[in-house]
Amino acid sequence: MDHKKASAKRKQPVRPGNLLVITGPSGVGKGTLVQKLKPRVDKLRYSVSVTIRAMRPGEVDGESYFFRSRSEFEDMARQGAFMEYAEFAGNFYGTPRGWVSEELENGVDVILEIEVVGAKQIHSQYPDAVMIFISPPSFEELANRLRNRKTETEEKIKLRLEKAEQELQEKNVFQYEVVNDNLDEAVSNLEHIVYAERCRMLRA
Ligand code: ADP
Ligand code: 5GP
Repeated sequence: MDHKKASAKRKQPVRPGNLLVITGPSGVGKGTLVQKLKPRVDKLRYSVSVTIRAMRPGEVDGESYFFRSRSEFEDMARQGAFMEYAEFAGNFYGTPRGWVSEELENGVDVILEIEVVGAKQIHSQYPDAVMIFISPPSFEELANRLRNRKTETEEKIKLRLEKAEQELQEKNVFQYEVVNDNLDEAVSNLEHIVYAERCRMLRA
């Protein structure tokens, strides 16, 4: 076979998937955005986290989260089963390592929808991860969204809003900021980020 034919036949190696981290305060709309993004992008999967928090009405074990006891969570942490984990508003949350690594190796992009402490752990361990911070249009609107969601008691909402104040101060450590004011616009911005990142030159 001549040289030209051989190089035409040679395929590009499988490009590993991108690890996309979507973070931001509770109630900003991360879950809503991810649900809207999924059907719009191919080769994109969402990592289901493990948590010890109580199940909310309508949540399904293995879909919303893997709901586990505190001691089961601690065992998993000791065994190194998490890529990152953090305590948030009195509960633990963690990203399972095995599934995420496999998907990335197969060229699939994986979304982690996690809080800021865990996001920073990912950033330091995986410098190529794409770090996206979701901001609310205002703090008042964030409080409205949390209250209108009606999933937490007023005491828990106050805790989450206190946490949000700290988290918003840390947004500058992330690469992208998407303001979730108009939902469709925010989803469209996320979609563009995902596709742009697929065209980024890989560093050897
Ligand atoms: P998070 O996953 O960040 O905690 P959610 O996705 O649960 O946030 O959203 C919190 C609440 O805000 C939900 O009731 C959701 O329907 C609402 N919401 C999300 N995005 C918007 C938006 N752009 N405009 C108005 N309400 C929104
Ligand atoms: P919620 O209790 O509202 O479902 O989640 C509370 C916070 O925990 C949210 O900001 C959510 O993004 C975050 N979270 C969910 N899963 C994980 C995870 O695996 N790791 C970390 N660090 N945070 C998570």
